[in-house]
Amino acid sequence: MTTLLESLRDLLGPGNVLTGGDAAPHLVDWRQAAVGRALAVVRPADTDEVAEVVRRCLAHGVPIVPQGGNTGQVGGATPDDSGRAVVVLLSRLARIREIDAENDTITVEAGCVLQDVQRAARDARRLFPLTLGAEGSCTIGGNLATNAGGSQVLRYGNARALALGLEVVTAEGDVWHGLRALRKDNTGYDLRDLYIGSEGTLGIITAATLKLFALPAAQRTALVAVASLERAVTLLARCRAGFEAALTAFELISSESAKLVERAFPQQRLPFASGLAPWYVLLEISDSEGEDHARACFEQVLGAALDAGEIEDAAIAQSGAQSESFWLLRDSITLAIAQTGKCLKHDIAMPTSRVAGFVRTMGERLGQVCTGIRFVIFGHLGDGNLHYNLMKPDGASDEQFVASGAGIMRIVHDSVHAHAGTISAEQGVGQFRIGELLHYKDPVELSLMRRVKAALDPSGIMNPGKVLPG
Ligand SMILES: Cc1cc2nc3c(=O)[nH]c(=O)nc-3n(C[C@H](O)[C@H](O)[C@H](O)COP(=O)(O)OP(=O)(O)OC[C@H]3O[C@@H](n4cnc5c(N)ncnc54)[C@H](O)[C@@H]3O)c2cc1C
Repeated sequence: MTTLLESLRDLLGPGNVLTGGDAAPHLVDWRQAAVGRALAVVRPADTDEVAEVVRRCLAHGVPIVPQGGNTGQVGGATPDDSGRAVVVLLSRLARIREIDAENDTITVEAGCVLQDVQRAARDARRLFPLTLGAEGSCTIGGNLATNAGGSQVLRYGNARALALGLEVVTAEGDVWHGLRALRKDNTGYDLRDLYIGSEGTLGIITAATLKLFALPAAQRTALVAVASLERAVTLLARCRAGFEAALTAFELISSESAKLVERAFPQQRLPFASGLAPWYVLLEISDSEGEDHARACFEQVLGAALDAGEIEDAAIAQSGAQSESFWLLRDSITLAIAQTGKCLKHDIAMPTSRVAGFVRTMGERLGQVCTGIRFVIFGHLGDGNLHYNLMKPDGASDEQFVASGAGIMRIVHDSVHAHAGTISAEQGVGQFRIGELLHYKDPVELSLMRRVKAALDPSGIMNPGKVLPG
């Protein structure tokens, strides 16, 4: 009898069925916190091949782990260590199928790198606004499967809000042709929204039709120093009122995060005297009139904030290059953490009105539990989303710190829950946050999730052990 491996080689060609050292980079997650094994890593060329791979795996009862750019932060694209799974790489499904500028839509395959989609839209004088630090390597399929957020959510919404239609290979190997380019379609249950954010546990997204927007006439950024988080939240309200829909990013950077970046990448520095403030905000406005209007808006709103004593200082980017350098500093925080050492990461969100109180009480509490713990806090404050990272005290061993991790995480997440928040704002659940999901999710909601999983993936082959226990 033909083995599954032989059958996949026969279908895809031997060069597209990776094993051994060729498969290794796909068996470890971005954070290097999970290492798995697999029967093979396969690279289908199109939707029909993906469907056939699923049917063949199903016939052998073999689990499937979809993988895009492998930049996820929760181990969702990494197989377990049984060596049974087949990892399905979407990288060869990388065609831009259609741009319909009049309908403001673009249809792309799942393996398209986010930056390439942004570029294709720009070439057509349109904007695809999803933007995040991993955009040079993450894929649209992965963005949709994790319902990625990023830094323009407060204006354009997260990945879900940007998707109009999907093409999906179901867990039974059928193809659902749902590439609708409609902004209105009330014809029953919304399957698109079930697959978005399902982290590969219900099916494989092979293509998507996405919304496009008008390109702004000018984009301007500013870095603002604030004396407290309360002040940052006050500034957010002022900016929302002053800039209205032109406000496209409101990112928080703690001084500790900026220091970490400066240490890891010495050419990247804040444009202020060191130690000026404990918090910084990176603001971006996308102006429909032009550069002069954008600058005048910034000067008016930030000038008023300065006069009111709400901010310590502000640096408005004087050029596109300076804007980019502000963004680079912000986007380098995750990389700087990865280079620095052990970190307990939390991707949390709560109403913005509760963020300052949460950070203050947690600071006091964790300072007592773990003397000298370092808080590396940054994130999308405009969405109430903090990357609440904790690094070990100087002198503590990695082992000690990691051993205290579960207790610390419980303290943080209990407080997030008490502040009406969520334990995963934008990165998903994957394999790292299942325990937390089970702990905090409403039991009725959990039971409905299990029934959705059983209905759409009756054999349980799609990414088992992710989102829900396997
Ligand atoms: C430096 C850095 C910055 C980041 N910043 C942000 C940020 O600001 N906001 C944010 O939301 N996230 C951020 N992330 C994490 C983010 O979720 C991922 O970067 C991205 O959305 C995942 O895309 P990917 O193609 O790498 O997916 P992968 O990592 O390959 O997969 C992620 C999950 O999706 C599933 N999957 C992948 N492709 C498919 C598919 N075609 N069909 C079905 N399931 C699939 C996988 O099985 C896995 O469960 C960041 C990551 C890094 C490294």
